[in-house]
Amino acid sequence: MSETKTIRTRMAPSPTGDIHIGSLRTALYAYAFAKKNNGKFILRIEDTDQKRLVPGSAARALQIFKDFGLIYDEGPDVGGPYGPYIQTQRLDIYQKYIKELLDKNFAYYCFCTEDRLKEVRELQKAAKKLPKYDRCCQKLSPEDIKNNLENKIPYVIRMKIPENETIVFNDLIRGQIKFNTNDIDDQVLIKSNGIPTYHFAVVVDDHLMQISHIIRAEEWISSTPKHILLYRYFGWEVPQIAHLTVLLDPSHPGKMSKRHGSVFAQQFLDDGYLPEALLNFLMLLGWNPGTEKELFTLSEFISEFSVPHLHKKAAIFDRKKLDYFNGLYIRQLSDEKFGQYFKKFLPEISDNQIKILTPVLKERIVKFSDLKDQLKFLFEDVEYSKELLVTDKINLDLAKNILNLSKKYFEKLKEINVEQIKTDLMKIILDNNIKVGDFFMILRVAICGATHTPPVVECLPALGTDNTLRKIDIAMLKLS
Ligand code: GLU
Repeated sequence: MSETKTIRTRMAPSPTGDIHIGSLRTALYAYAFAKKNNGKFILRIEDTDQKRLVPGSAARALQIFKDFGLIYDEGPDVGGPYGPYIQTQRLDIYQKYIKELLDKNFAYYCFCTEDRLKEVRELQKAAKKLPKYDRCCQKLSPEDIKNNLENKIPYVIRMKIPENETIVFNDLIRGQIKFNTNDIDDQVLIKSNGIPTYHFAVVVDDHLMQISHIIRAEEWISSTPKHILLYRYFGWEVPQIAHLTVLLDPSHPGKMSKRHGSVFAQQFLDDGYLPEALLNFLMLLGWNPGTEKELFTLSEFISEFSVPHLHKKAAIFDRKKLDYFNGLYIRQLSDEKFGQYFKKFLPEISDNQIKILTPVLKERIVKFSDLKDQLKFLFEDVEYSKELLVTDKINLDLAKNILNLSKKYFEKLKEINVEQIKTDLMKIILDNNIKVGDFFMILRVAICGATHTPPVVECLPALGTDNTLRKIDIAMLKLS
């Protein structure tokens, strides 16, 4: 590659579902690499697998990259000099290139039926051999092929794989990777419906779109030798390739899975993680700056990003660390911005309540979706069991006494002033020889219906005296 060539990276999601958090990380690194080198970041939709298409997911993919600020320079909705950027809109292009491979005898028609292929695979399995196409159709004469085509016998087009050859490529992260072609199947390039497979389309498109660096997930390593052969057949330069490591979940062995929490980028936004916090977390999940620095804006990341600092070992998706980052970023929000998120995640909250609660919650919450649960008591009388009031530590009489004292106090209260209430309650506690923790636990459960809540007195201005008294009455009724 010449020194002056523009760096062009791409993200190439298949619209078969929502964007996985690992794909967002891939996009972040590909984006950063392009931007760091004054290059371009391209978004291409790889929708050749029509059977697995999930309606709406292509549009959602485009949106999610924008939501995270990974603004692509070229893509389906923004256009660009190498479009179209949706593979099913490029079918005529693939036709031209497959013809070239057929003409050069690097690809061949295969008319085998599904049943025959299955039979071959089963025989191979029984003989403990690697299941591969047995190349039966490579033996067809030009006349056979012509006849079959004229008779409209369904076919696929396969690539020819040389025998017993070592394919080597230099992965930017992992170093030299070698494959023996004997382990590679004669990959289908064009399916019977005329649509290319991923393997064919990706090579043609990466070449035509002048992609200089392919940064993608580890799962594509075993596909790479096929791609390299295709580049060779066409006489094209192979882009630089980097395969990122997988993301592991610390809570269970193996890759992150849906059963153990959110895995899609959109889910994390819906959970109330801030895009900036999630991006910062992802930056360090497979890359390190070589210093202790942990907090990076996207532009700081771009200026510090470098491929040699990408990790070779799988990254552990530590959700606690993500929570920590999110908390840090939440505390950095302006009150106005915090209020906007507050409203988004709890639409029933009033502007006045937001004003009251912002200073209380901004310092405490981990993610915005927690608000719904934590502030449920503002909008309903939360159901809870008597056992929260009467515990090993607090007996029935003490619980009743605390509720009585609280009721008497709030009945007389004219104005809700948090500091005054705190002072008054402390006096009541002292006068009655009650433990501070016990008193506030009973008040907390009575008002919020839970033992882990935001600081209860601080929330009272948002609840009002009438509601406070009603909740105390409900608690007293539970104990009567
Ligand atoms: N379409 C592939 C995917 O969904 C892209 C693989 C690649 O980057 O080459 O992951």
